[in-house]
Amino acid sequence: MVKDTKLYDTLGVSPEATENELKKAYRKLALKYHPDKNPNGADKFKDISHAYEILSDPQKRETYDNFGEEGLSGDASGMGMNPDDLFASFFGFNSGSRNSGPRRGKDVVHPLKVSLEDLYKGKVFKLSIKRNVICKACNGKGGEEGAVKNCQDCNGRGVKFVRRQIGPMIQQYQTSCPTCNGTGEIINKKLECKTCHSKKVVQETKIIEVPVDKGMSDGQQITFTGEADQAPGVETGDVVIIIKEKPHDLFKRKGRDLYYNQKIDLLTALTGGTFNIKHLDDRYLKVSIIPGEIIKPDQTKCIQNEGMPTYKNPFDKGNLFVKFEIEFPNTEWYNDEKAKILKDVLPKKTNEKIPSNAIVDEVVMSNYEPNSRSQERNDMDDDDDERGGPQVQCAQQ
Ligand SMILES: [Zn+2]
Ligand SMILES: [Zn+2]
Repeated sequence: MVKDTKLYDTLGVSPEATENELKKAYRKLALKYHPDKNPNGADKFKDISHAYEILSDPQKRETYDNFGEEGLSGDASGMGMNPDDLFASFFGFNSGSRNSGPRRGKDVVHPLKVSLEDLYKGKVFKLSIKRNVICKACNGKGGEEGAVKNCQDCNGRGVKFVRRQIGPMIQQYQTSCPTCNGTGEIINKKLECKTCHSKKVVQETKIIEVPVDKGMSDGQQITFTGEADQAPGVETGDVVIIIKEKPHDLFKRKGRDLYYNQKIDLLTALTGGTFNIKHLDDRYLKVSIIPGEIIKPDQTKCIQNEGMPTYKNPFDKGNLFVKFEIEFPNTEWYNDEKAKILKDVLPKKTNEKIPSNAIVDEVVMSNYEPNSRSQERNDMDDDDDERGGPQVQCAQQ
């Protein structure tokens, strides 16, 4: 139960509304009551904007749901954002209202692909980023006094609402302002800044150093505050680097643990021995299988403290899990002499008894090639929910 439904009522949605439903409701109402279209809509437009501003922010919405509007202290409770700015950013154009305090520029998000080795060892990446910075020649003014003026036709908004009558219907739609080409500004060519051509910003390339620390994980973010595009009158957004862990050929990572598949021969599995794992920092782990340990197919063993380092505490490491695949000798290896030796040393065979009154057919197995029978397997899969490896079937004799 939410404490208060007023803001939901304003948008005409239920407190269970999804983000998408909120968006739709705001879009519809904002277009209907925008003062440009509806001279009496100003108050309603403000209320709609206020409601949407709070409900579209998951954190503010949660606070509102739990504590009502009283719960939203300071900035959040008041009209944090100019309704025109909210409207403009929602519909993706520049509102041009500059007297509403600093707006915040967009954050720039860069994915950074990082190998498991680098997440294990840590590494500083140098990234070259292109960004807009305020033109130094004109201090972001675009030229001499009077070089840039707000477009009168669209009030600096860059868009206009147009009414058109089609038969009995009046259609209203928004269109890019032709006077200023949608920029919201008129530039006096004689007074313009020669460096930025009155764009107020110039592009620069900057190298940022991204410290990827030991133990960082996929999806983790590294934020460079105020390093995104600059624009006059706008608080500069952040550059956010998101780590994307590259898949590794040999190691799989789950949190702090690593998983590794190791092939060993049957003799080592039965009698013990050693094998090597080349670790992510190029060290070799020389792993012992103690005689008598007897490794079974698909068995998993654990090497403690050889997993991934813990972020911010790299000496504390997870575990390395080793799953064994056992390589059996091929057919050529067999002869009666070797079989006799094995029969002497391996545990005795246990044959299951068939009841004496049962009918017995003696059969041999043929080889099973999964690919050549794929069609038949697919048919089986359709009405059989059991997955987990191919279902072995014996070819009919
Ligand atoms: Zn300039
Ligand atoms: Zn204009």
